[in-house]
Amino acid sequence: MSSFWSEDHLQEECGVFGCFSPKDDDVGDYCYLGLLSLQHRGQESAGISVAQEDCQVITTKGMGLIAQVFTREALVEMTGRIAVGHVRYSTTGTSNIENAQPFEGHCKLGHLSMAHNGTLVNSEILRSLMEDGGTVFQSTSDSEVILNLIARGSSKGSVKSVVDAMSAIKGSYALVLTLEGKLMGARDPYGLRPLCIGRKEDTWFLSSESCALNAVGAEFVRDVAPGEIVVLDQEGVQSFELNKKNVQATCVFEYIYFARPDSIIDGMSVYESRLRFGEELYKEGAVEADLVIGVPDSGIPAALGYSRASGIPFSLGFIKNHYVGRTFIHPSQELRERAVSVKLSALEADVRGKRVILIDDSIVRGTTSRRLVSKMRQAGAKEVHFGVVSPPIIEPCYFGIDTPVSEELIANNMSVEDIRKEIGADSLSYLSLDGLLKALKKEKGFCLGCLTGQYPISPHQ
Ligand code: SF4
Repeated sequence: MSSFWSEDHLQEECGVFGCFSPKDDDVGDYCYLGLLSLQHRGQESAGISVAQEDCQVITTKGMGLIAQVFTREALVEMTGRIAVGHVRYSTTGTSNIENAQPFEGHCKLGHLSMAHNGTLVNSEILRSLMEDGGTVFQSTSDSEVILNLIARGSSKGSVKSVVDAMSAIKGSYALVLTLEGKLMGARDPYGLRPLCIGRKEDTWFLSSESCALNAVGAEFVRDVAPGEIVVLDQEGVQSFELNKKNVQATCVFEYIYFARPDSIIDGMSVYESRLRFGEELYKEGAVEADLVIGVPDSGIPAALGYSRASGIPFSLGFIKNHYVGRTFIHPSQELRERAVSVKLSALEADVRGKRVILIDDSIVRGTTSRRLVSKMRQAGAKEVHFGVVSPPIIEPCYFGIDTPVSEELIANNMSVEDIRKEIGADSLSYLSLDGLLKALKKEKGFCLGCLTGQYPISPHQ
């Protein structure tokens, strides 16, 4: 993802992973490998709960990356039959250990551990009602509201308790949980967040993205359908449906930016979609240039698509430092610029004297794009054109993607020409909404809320 500086990009949400084995197995290791492949979805905290045959549950969680949270010693302990894991980027609740997942507790059916990707739009009202009824919360996360709702209904059985909780909550969610010796998964009725099922012999997996199934050597079985609850145990997969029919509205930014290109979401390859975004962008408005450069990482497949469609050679243009994670916000402008230069540098030997077109996934505030253009000019590029493979982001997201308020979104208050001037490019082209849907080969089935202001769920409950 091109989030090499975090303050000017949409931020990924979270990643969830689960594993069921009919016998005691290295489920903790599987979960660890799965989460490593989902690390791009959240880098603030990580955690894994493992349920053992004797119903003992071991949970390890902490702040930081997977590799920082899990030592070899911790993983050796984590054998069992079921594991659920989570990587977090905070969208509701502050970034601290209390909000790290999985969340867990005891209910009528025994131990419950749950990991959630998404954001509820009615969590405040639910939390307030539950607090009035005496529920005590350990965290400020909306995910704990879901955990408590499931626990409350647990006397009705595991599936009914999840169905009842889903009937009460509104918003985006992909859930992975363990209850009553089963691994369970659920996806919100709009399918805003992805969730898929994998299998390796008699071991079953749930994952936010299929790239993590590849990592554990599992085969992709299918996506969990919007509004579906799945139970994975020694019987295989059982499916239940929430009695709420909705039009599917998967977040279109999974394809544009969030998901890893080697993932397949709802039957569509993320990589191929990004290639087509680049092709469509070229078809909508050809720019004369000597080189096409993709902004690392998510701009690269689209740049390849642009290059193939136009015949303009693709080139690296930038070198990314892979060893720098999130950096804190530096107090002075100069230090902030320095930190950016450590993360990404322009390749002078590549671009000097050339007309380049930079392809990026989106423009949020415009500060990133301005820096990219300026870096190209400093490296000697003769002309710097800018192509964006999403239509302008004009409104915030309410479903778990961290976006600034409307006033800070550059496309909310500036014309394309004004944005071009602001970022200092020789030309600026955005992929149109029609072009985006054409490239996705589907006219319906996506949330386009931040691009159109029309959301699948009213954000104000
Ligand atoms: S509003 Fe935008 S970022 Fe949020 S879910 Fe919809 S498409 Fe995704």
